[in-house]
Amino acid sequence: MSEGAGKAQEKRKVHAIKGVRDILPLETALWNRVEQTAHEVFATYGFGEIRLPILEHTHLFERTLGLESDVVSKEMYSILNREKEDHELWAWRDVASDWDVPVEDPNALDQFEDALERLLEGLDIKLSEDESFGGAVADSAVHALWEKLDELREARSKGVPPKDLETLIDTIRLKVACIREEELVLRPEATASVCRAYIEHGMHTLPGNVKLYYMGPMFRRERPQKGRYRQFYQIGAEVLSHTGDLKEDARVDAEVIEMLTTFFEKAGLEGTALYINSIGCKECRPKYVELLRTALTKVKDKLGPDSQRRIETNPLRVLDSKLESEQAIIEKLPRIAEHLCPDCLEEYTEVKKQLAMRGISYTQNFRLVRGLDYYMRTTFEITAPGLGSQNAVCGGGRYDGLVELLGGPPTKGIGFAIGTDRVILSLQEIRKLPVERALDVYVAWMGEKNYPAAMKIARRLREGGLAVELPPGEMKFGKALGLADKLGARYALIIGDDEVATKQFTVKRLEDGEQKKLGERELVAYLKAGEAP
Ligand code: AMP
Repeated sequence: MSEGAGKAQEKRKVHAIKGVRDILPLETALWNRVEQTAHEVFATYGFGEIRLPILEHTHLFERTLGLESDVVSKEMYSILNREKEDHELWAWRDVASDWDVPVEDPNALDQFEDALERLLEGLDIKLSEDESFGGAVADSAVHALWEKLDELREARSKGVPPKDLETLIDTIRLKVACIREEELVLRPEATASVCRAYIEHGMHTLPGNVKLYYMGPMFRRERPQKGRYRQFYQIGAEVLSHTGDLKEDARVDAEVIEMLTTFFEKAGLEGTALYINSIGCKECRPKYVELLRTALTKVKDKLGPDSQRRIETNPLRVLDSKLESEQAIIEKLPRIAEHLCPDCLEEYTEVKKQLAMRGISYTQNFRLVRGLDYYMRTTFEITAPGLGSQNAVCGGGRYDGLVELLGGPPTKGIGFAIGTDRVILSLQEIRKLPVERALDVYVAWMGEKNYPAAMKIARRLREGGLAVELPPGEMKFGKALGLADKLGARYALIIGDDEVATKQFTVKRLEDGEQKKLGERELVAYLKAGEAP
């Protein structure tokens, strides 16, 4: 390496990847407070914490969120899970998928058949050993390929023309290329994981409704901006049940929202607003979507290119549009709440009644359709001030049928996810929270021989629950007090020859400089309460 290049490398700093960030000590104190509030509030509503893995099979989200969703089609971080012992298997896959077979060469054809056979044998073993491998796709693909291999052998024995062999081999090659190594993803959300865990642990046999909450990081490859990150954090809760009529469902919905409002209140988040909607069910939503599509087609020329495309692909998404020129048009579109089937209408009416009964104010927002496929009936969103365009701090809704979609028993579900990053941002912006320093006592010790005494006292104070800074090196009195002040300590405890000899310690309150001499026994009580006992 040249000297110049070496220097350049020295200078290049390491940094976190785009869209992820570090959360540093003073801020983490606030995070802990918010998370602790969730633990406490959710427990009072009978929810238990579930800790979920961050890695999941890709198909979990493909099945629940839908292949068309932004999250699945564009935003997931995936990882190939190539087990070490499968190395050979995938090498055969590479041979059978990439090889340009000279069809007139029988040796080459033998080798191709051999590679394919070894691949299929390997896959058969893998499929029988690992249920989750590849899912239905790999299963049927392997079966189809065994048939194609037989077909190829038969064609060769009959001596079909090279052109036909070529076509057959091409088909095989393409099918082989579709067999992928197992793919895992960093979870983009956790509702699907909760449902998976619910099924996997047979939680439907538990008594009563199953109420779970979780917190942790989620990953989506979105365009980062204020309040939108690629690794972000959610606090979420789900209620899964297999009994109850529409009225009971509505009560569950309202109680979940009540829990949320209590959480925001206790976390000190002010100025939140709750928006609700019903997006119908598989009976009434398709009819409404058609109605919307017809209405949108009539005004197609006035819409932007994205919305024009969505008329065909997903008309509901047009309602999400933030484009200024489309707002007046959207206001005039048919609204789903006016096209609900009798059951959905009954539940929506009941949810509103239940919210009113609980004194929770809300605004109906017909544009709240949520981006994900699995929602039905009740949907809601909570916004908070100080966040600019990314002002949603919580999204949620009902998802009856999702557990069934994943192979579980018929189950109703309702849940939400709070964006923790945004809650913190809003708390910081709106309440202008002072930077909190958590240091109670700075131990200003002087004279090397007094260090053991200082260490013992620091330990005693810490046992008493106080946050104590014991500097590792001796400092001059003035400098020590200056540092205690900069660290934001409430008190400085002075330990010098006199103090150790008399066992009377000088405590200086840094706020106003007031000093006291106290014995070791009185110290903890005084430092905790701020008063001499
Ligand atoms: P969703 O899972 O999309 O329903 O989102 C629920 C909540 O998570 C939103 O209301 C946001 O508060 C938060 N959220 C979603 N995506 C992000 C992101 N990329 N960065 C930060 N917060 C997010």
